[in-house]
Amino acid sequence: MGNDTLTQRDLNVLWHPCTQMRDHESVPLIPIKRGRGVWLQDYDGNRYLDAISSWWVNLFGHANPRINNAIAQQAADLEHVMLAGFTHEPVITLSERVLHLAPAGLRRCFYADSGSAAVEIALKMSFHYWQNQGCRERTRFISLSNSYHGETLGALSVGDVALYKKTYQPLLLQNITVPSPDCYHREPGSSWEQHSARMFAAMEQALERHAETACAVIVEPLVQCAGAMRMYHPIYLRLLRQACDRYRVHLIADEIAVGFGRTGSLFACEQADISPDFLCLGKGLTGGYLPLSVCLTTDEIYQAFYADYAELKAFLHSHSYSGNPLACAAALATLDIFEQDNIIEQNKALAAHMAESCAPLQEQAHIAEIRQTGMILALEMVADKASRSPYPWQERRGLQVYRHALANGVLLRPLGDVVYLMPPYVINFQELDLLAKVAGEGIASATT
Ligand code: PMP
Repeated sequence: MGNDTLTQRDLNVLWHPCTQMRDHESVPLIPIKRGRGVWLQDYDGNRYLDAISSWWVNLFGHANPRINNAIAQQAADLEHVMLAGFTHEPVITLSERVLHLAPAGLRRCFYADSGSAAVEIALKMSFHYWQNQGCRERTRFISLSNSYHGETLGALSVGDVALYKKTYQPLLLQNITVPSPDCYHREPGSSWEQHSARMFAAMEQALERHAETACAVIVEPLVQCAGAMRMYHPIYLRLLRQACDRYRVHLIADEIAVGFGRTGSLFACEQADISPDFLCLGKGLTGGYLPLSVCLTTDEIYQAFYADYAELKAFLHSHSYSGNPLACAAALATLDIFEQDNIIEQNKALAAHMAESCAPLQEQAHIAEIRQTGMILALEMVADKASRSPYPWQERRGLQVYRHALANGVLLRPLGDVVYLMPPYVINFQELDLLAKVAGEGIASATT
C-alpha cells in the first residue's frame, strides 16, 4: 500500500486537527508508516526529519526501545484502572519522582489526559480554592497577550491567539489580558532583561487593580510557543512571583510545551528560581508516547479541599483515563532516560550547535531575528527586514516553507511566518546542520 491509497481513504472519513481540510486538495497528506529516532517514514519510502518533535511531544525519538519496552511490560500487567477509589504502582512512583524534580513546594499531583485538560484543572482548582476560603468575588484570571494554553473553552479563554480564539469569543470567560514581555518587540539597544522587566509594569498595574477579584495569573514560562515562539527573560517570572505573593493571587505555570528540558533546564521556572502554585505538565511527560498530563500543586491548596464530605469542598473533577498506567510507565521510562543519560547536560552541546548552524542565516534578507531559548530556536520571516514589517498573512509564506522542507526530507511546521526548530533530543550535529540548511533554503525560496 502506498501514500495515495491511504490518503484517499483518510480523506473520505477523517477531519484533521488544526487544518482547513480543503488545503488537502493541493497540499498532500502524508501517511506515516514508521518512525525511528528523529526520522519518520511514509508509505512510499520517503523519510522526514521530525524537526518539531511531532507538535513538541517527542523527546527521545520515535519507537524508542526503552520506552517501548516499558509500555509492553506494563501492558502485560495492567493496561488501565480508574483512579477514583483505586491506585497503582506506576502512578504513585511517577508522582513521587515528578514532585521530587519539580520546583520546591509542589506536593500533589492531579492527572488528566491532555495539556488543555491540565490547564482546566489548574483554573478550576484555583477558583475553587478561593470559593472554599470564602472569597466568592474571585472569579477572574489574568494572562498575557499572545499566550496559548489549549483549545477547550476555559483554556481558550486565557489564551490570546486570535486565529484560534476569535470565533468562540461569545462562549468564553471574561479574561484580563496584559501585554506580553515578548522580546521581539524590545526597543533597539535594550536587552531581553531590560525589556522584560520594563513590561512588568503592566502586570503590576493589573494585579493592583484586580487583586480582589482575580484567582490566578497564568503564563507560559520563558517561551510563548504557539504564539510564534516569542521569548522573554526569566526576570519577568521572578517579578511575577513576588507580585502574586504581594497581592495574594495564585501563579499558574503552564509548562506543557516548555517543560522537560525544552528551555535548557528541566523546567523553565528553575531559570527564575521560582515555584508556582500550580504547574501544568503534558506533552513530553511521556516522551511523546501517550496522552498524559498533570497539574501539580501545593499542600496549602490541597488542604483547602480536605474536609468532611458534607462540607462539599472536594474537587470532583475527573477524566476516564486519569493516570493511565501505560502512560505512567512511558513517563517513568522517560524520567529514567533523563537521569541515566544526563540529558540536560548533553543538550547544552546540541543547543550550542543549533545556534552555530543557524547563525549564518542572520544574513538572509528576510530573516528579521533568530532567537533561541535552550532547545527551541525560531527564525522570524518578514517582508522587510529594516522595518520588520510582516508579509500579509493571506500569502501563507510559512506554508511554502513547510512544502519546501517536506520536499527536502524535513518536517517543519511554521507558526504563521515563524519557522522554528524544536527537535527530539536524540538528534545529532549533522542532522541539526541539515535542519538549518533546509530552513534557510525554505525561507529563501518562500521569499523570492
Ligand atoms: N499549553 C501550552 C503552552 C501548549 O503549548 C499546549 C499545546 N500546544 C497546550 C497547553 C494544550 O495541550 P494539548 O494540545 O495537549 O491539549
